[in-house]
Amino acid sequence: MAYDRFARPIHYLRISLTDHCNLRCIYCMPENMTFRPSAELLQDEEIFRLTRLFAKLGFDKIRLTGGEPTVRANVVEIVRQIASTPGIRSVTMTTNGILLKRLARPLAEAGLQRVNISLDTLNPIKFKRLTRWGDVEDVWEGILAAEEAGLTPIKINAVVVRGYNEEDVVDLARLSLNHPWQIRFIEMMPFGGATDLQIGQMVTSEEVRKRIEAALGTLEPLLDGQLDGEARLYRLPNAAGDLGFISSVSAPFCAACTRARLTADGVLRMCLLREYEINLLKPLRQGASDEDLRQLILNAIWNKPWGHGLAEGEIARNRTMSQIGG
Ligand code: SAM
Ligand code: SF4
Repeated sequence: MAYDRFARPIHYLRISLTDHCNLRCIYCMPENMTFRPSAELLQDEEIFRLTRLFAKLGFDKIRLTGGEPTVRANVVEIVRQIASTPGIRSVTMTTNGILLKRLARPLAEAGLQRVNISLDTLNPIKFKRLTRWGDVEDVWEGILAAEEAGLTPIKINAVVVRGYNEEDVVDLARLSLNHPWQIRFIEMMPFGGATDLQIGQMVTSEEVRKRIEAALGTLEPLLDGQLDGEARLYRLPNAAGDLGFISSVSAPFCAACTRARLTADGVLRMCLLREYEINLLKPLRQGASDEDLRQLILNAIWNKPWGHGLAEGEIARNRTMSQIGG
């Protein structure tokens, strides 16, 4: 296992399969977003080589993300290869769900274990406004397909944006009454690209929780109020599922962070909200040995920043969320 200089074990890698996306969520990227040509992204074999290296360093948990991971060519084969890498115990994916109706079963058969599906509102008009052109029905069908394929427990991610969907959190929370799903409310974070909106229209977890309690009853804290990963969990009275609150801005969980991120263009990013990055693609294409790459990765892990500086007004502006991999 690799440790950083604060003695945190780092063993969870989020791999972004592409910066491309079939939606344009307003909090994630500008409408006129330009994407990298595929040749500048990690190729399949490069992803597999790096995955093997990370696995040998003790990484056992992989989440595939993006951009939108399901638009990556060959995504099913990529999942199959990663899932069969010795040492990798868990392969999951964060997706907007648009393509899951078709892909959920092949992905599950290839070894994908679970999915987090992003859904910020159940209202078709508001969904279109938030995603710029998405159809909420596609996501809904994707969620049902994922459940049927056994990609469970299903987690739904909702970013809450003032003026767009802060009232919709009640309908989303209500889903947990009849479905064994975890509905997670995420505080919007600032990056490059859409920063004014991200700062000015963020809604705190506390406000969301109060809104849900006022409409649906008192929330019972789970796990004695301890964090489950990045989320604090609650349950509505007699609910089949849970609610999760991810308070990255108002209550950071940096002390318990075990993550590193590999961007689609082959850069190792040790904190979502810090600009510190190490390029792995360049040395890899210049013929670096496994040992060279291992040293680069270990050095990056050792220097993982302690946490983000949002409270001090520091914003990492060098990439949008989709260019990092959420
Ligand atoms: N396209 C996939 C999706 O939307 O689930 C995966 C990539 S997306 C960047 C990963 C997650 O980041 C999504 O749940 C998305 O809602 C969230 N996200 C995007 N921009 C964000 C922001 N500014 N603050 C907080 N979460 C954000
Ligand atoms: Fe695409 Fe996901 Fe970003 Fe939305 S949040 S624009 S679906 S990458």
